[in-house]
Amino acid sequence: MIDWGALGDETVELLRRYLQIDTTNPPGNEVAGARFLAEILTREGIASETIEAGPGRASLRARLPGDGSLGGIVLHHHIDVVYADRRYWTVDPFGGVIADGYLYGRGAIDMKSTGILHLAALLALKRARVPLKRDLVFLATADEEAGSEFGAQFIADRRPDWLAGAEYAISEIGLIQMHSGLTAPLAAIVISEKTSLPITLTARGEPGHGSMPWPDTAPNRLVRALDRLLAAERPPRVLPEVQEFFSRMAAVLPAEHAVGYDDLAGSLRDPAFRERFYANRQYAAMVRTTFAVTMLRGSAKSNVIPPEATAQIDCRMLAGDDPEEIAEWVRRAVADPNVQVQFARDPKVPNLSPPDTELYKAMADTLRRRAPGAVVAPMILVAFTDNWVFRRAGLHGYGFSPFVIEEEELQRIHGNDERISLENLREGVRAYTELLLNVAGA
Ligand SMILES: [Zn+2]
Repeated sequence: MIDWGALGDETVELLRRYLQIDTTNPPGNEVAGARFLAEILTREGIASETIEAGPGRASLRARLPGDGSLGGIVLHHHIDVVYADRRYWTVDPFGGVIADGYLYGRGAIDMKSTGILHLAALLALKRARVPLKRDLVFLATADEEAGSEFGAQFIADRRPDWLAGAEYAISEIGLIQMHSGLTAPLAAIVISEKTSLPITLTARGEPGHGSMPWPDTAPNRLVRALDRLLAAERPPRVLPEVQEFFSRMAAVLPAEHAVGYDDLAGSLRDPAFRERFYANRQYAAMVRTTFAVTMLRGSAKSNVIPPEATAQIDCRMLAGDDPEEIAEWVRRAVADPNVQVQFARDPKVPNLSPPDTELYKAMADTLRRRAPGAVVAPMILVAFTDNWVFRRAGLHGYGFSPFVIEEEELQRIHGNDERISLENLREGVRAYTELLLNVAGA
């Protein structure tokens, strides 16, 4: 009843046009993207609503109604993209260029492609007049790449009615990885994101002339405090879901690369294993609360010893972390009463959705169909997404994409020559539509 070939062509063309709209954040200008989406929806007889959290900062919502017997699914993507440095691209990042079987453009993976899969799948279901058990909510948000304040957070605060009746939220990443280091495809479904806990260290001391320094100046105190903090070993913490990820991953790794993955907590007590494991920055971040020194400020003038020196630490928390406990741990590591430790803003406590819901299982089936032989693993993302906001609003939030991506392609996300294969778009829209038929079709 659905012509998959035609739907695939339409998906490619819709994404090509969507990628031509520059929604680089800042400034975002998501309203241009929202207008494009609204126009397509209107043409198909689907009403949509747009709200602006600030000038140009638009988010859009549309809905295919279900019969109300089951909770709704919010299919959400962010309209904004990160900037593209044209000097390093071989094509125009907003040109919608198709070459060698790929569609190029900023947002080709992160994440206008997923947004267009949502859109095209809804159009297909609407045209086929498929009766639904669940509402399918199409949600396009502003500002995800800069912390969600003008997008998902604005919606959760101001328009909770946009989420009313919904049980699930699905967004991005997930992906199916296939490369030479794996014996079978490895697919992930994101169940949680680490959240940032920005911490400010402020050292204070007597100011003075740079020509006559003394040991306890504010900058000196700050440098020593940072040194102690970075040297402090915070023990790893392996969440059961993270152990599950590595156990599943072990199944697709050559045996010699999987040694110790069946009991990570135990293996991490071995210094040699720990060093090898931590050498992979992403893995290290999956089992630890991390502290990155990102901003330093001292005097405004080279010959003035300032009364104050500050450092910003980008701390990232895992599900189950307690911000107050972390602050206490940092204070103990810093061990200087003249260095104040404070949160730079209110903590965003991490949240997590279970990997055994009906939707999770259906998504896992979809991934295994898309890439036969794939092993599906639950994943904790080390970066932030809008799903944190929607989980906090009471929904189960997952990151899912039916795209088979090689490792090299991943470097292009936020990098140069971001692209998606036409095959991924054609097969992806079919996989997505079938998933929605499975979980929401009456
Ligand atoms: Zn993204």
